[in-house]
Amino acid sequence: MDRRSSVVGQRSDAVQDILERLDAAYGHEHWHWMPEHASPMEIIVGAILVQHTTWQNAERALHAMRDVGLLDANAIIVATDATLVDAVRVSGTPNVKARRLRAIAQTIIGAGGLDATLALPLEDLRILLLATHGVGRETADAIALYACAKRTFVIDAYTRRVFRRVGIGPEHDAHEDWRGFLENALPDAGVRTFQRYHAWIVLHAKTLCRTRPLCDPCPLLDACETGRASTTPHADARPAASVHAGRTAR
Ligand code: SF4
Repeated sequence: MDRRSSVVGQRSDAVQDILERLDAAYGHEHWHWMPEHASPMEIIVGAILVQHTTWQNAERALHAMRDVGLLDANAIIVATDATLVDAVRVSGTPNVKARRLRAIAQTIIGAGGLDATLALPLEDLRILLLATHGVGRETADAIALYACAKRTFVIDAYTRRVFRRVGIGPEHDAHEDWRGFLENALPDAGVRTFQRYHAWIVLHAKTLCRTRPLCDPCPLLDACETGRASTTPHADARPAASVHAGRTAR
């Protein structure tokens, strides 16, 4: 095995180890975007509503939209501004979100309807979503993975935070660097595994790996550079190993 193969193998093993630990720790938890808990249209609408707010607020707006029959692309398009804005108000910035919901509804209709949108190949879907007003890369990833069941890793601030603290990540920080890094490190993982892994990363970042991390009870502690440094009195005497894309650092 040459050095590059060895490094790639280490990287892949390290990523899998972290995600399997999270799966063991959080795998029994409820995640609102699993296909058994939400329809594709609920996930698409939810991905817009949750922007810049909590899931609790987004879910309340989702319920309000359901109550007035707005969980449908055509219904969103024909709804009056007042009806749509009122339904999404609880999720914050209602005028912005109403405009974004109309844009994604128009994208769905333009693609031939919801079923046709769900059936698009991943790259076509990504191009279409990213061309939609109000849909950035993170929202596009979430819609592709959870609503459309495409094999794509959702990259968000939580993903970056957890992996950077552990000491694993691509050399550069761009969204596509992260996505390529994690997808390449998990060659055997399918859509369902990606859905689970992203869910547990978010839960972990919200419960333990917060802005001020709670490292003592963390299931990643012995594998985490940051955690070991914060809990080991003489951590600076022996820096932990890092595994980055294309190189190892000690
Ligand atoms: S040990 Fe601390 S910094 Fe590392 S992943 Fe766990 S909570 Fe985050």
